[in-house]
Amino acid sequence: MTDPLDPLVKRARDGDQRAVARLITLVEANDPRLPELAAALAPHTGTAQVIGLTGVPGVGKSTTTTELVRVLRAAGNRVGVLAVDPSSPFTGGAILGDRVRMQEHATDPGVYIRSMSSRGHLGGLAAATPQAVRVLDGAGCDVILVETVGVGQAEVAVASLADTTLVLLAPGLGDAIQAAKAGILEVADIFVVNKADRDGADATYHDIQGMIGLAERAPGHWRPRVVRAVATRSEGIDELVEAIAKHREWLAGHDELQRRREQRAAAEVEAIVLARLRARVGGPARDAAAAVAAGALDPYAAAGSILADLGHPDVV
Ligand code: GDP
Repeated sequence: MTDPLDPLVKRARDGDQRAVARLITLVEANDPRLPELAAALAPHTGTAQVIGLTGVPGVGKSTTTTELVRVLRAAGNRVGVLAVDPSSPFTGGAILGDRVRMQEHATDPGVYIRSMSSRGHLGGLAAATPQAVRVLDGAGCDVILVETVGVGQAEVAVASLADTTLVLLAPGLGDAIQAAKAGILEVADIFVVNKADRDGADATYHDIQGMIGLAERAPGHWRPRVVRAVATRSEGIDELVEAIAKHREWLAGHDELQRRREQRAAAEVEAIVLARLRARVGGPARDAAAAVAAGALDPYAAAGSILADLGHPDVV
């Protein structure tokens, strides 16, 4: 990839889908020009509404995303969809053409759909995802849906950095309990009990309502909403869109939007710093390993000398 960056950024800002795809590929591959890209995008970012979706595979994320895109498009929004899969093999930037339900939006010039693997990215999911969101934001998306596959800590962390975080559950997967374990209760703004046409949906709905009822919440704090849906039949989608709008109103009315965005920015900066540090300390740590393992050097002394070599005071 040797395209000059400036024209690519300009084309992306003009809504050229291929330019957007190329820029996300640069992010995915941790291209050395990412600092330059971030600088070029920064003045054009900060306006998109970011919605995170997470849930176990098969719960209905892509079906729900497709439905949300339909409603958002009907309201005239430009929409970006980023499906982040931490475990899938590096795709080289394949567009999600294989995702059958997304097909209906595949030819719509107002929708960018993109899957991203962060395996090539040194800082992983935490560093790569916000940069890809910046690309979509800079390209003029009004709403960006970030779908994370899975409910591990990393996925939950990424989804929770959205303005509004949706957690999808479905009956029969023991999800409510999994959700509590993964700390999802703390990050979900809206729960979607999808597959409400299936047996056990009521039990899942009541389980999650029960957990929300038990959670401690300071006065004035947002109480997570629970929406039932049958995404395959478009049922519950209007209610979901309404719940998202209500949450957005609440964010705006409580200075929460700004707080969340600052939190997201802090996490983004931290992830970049950590990735850079990790790149520099891995070698010296391995060099010290034999001596530490043999007891000839203690680990704090080894760490101290590595930090000193980096020009950091020894703060351990
Ligand atoms: P993802 O892995 O979380 O993205 O889940 P998908 O959106 O790919 O859905 C997994 C499967 O569940 C697909 O076969 C969908 O057609 C089906 N599905 C999605 N939503 C519903 C629903 O509300 N009811 C039923 N019965 N099936 C659904």
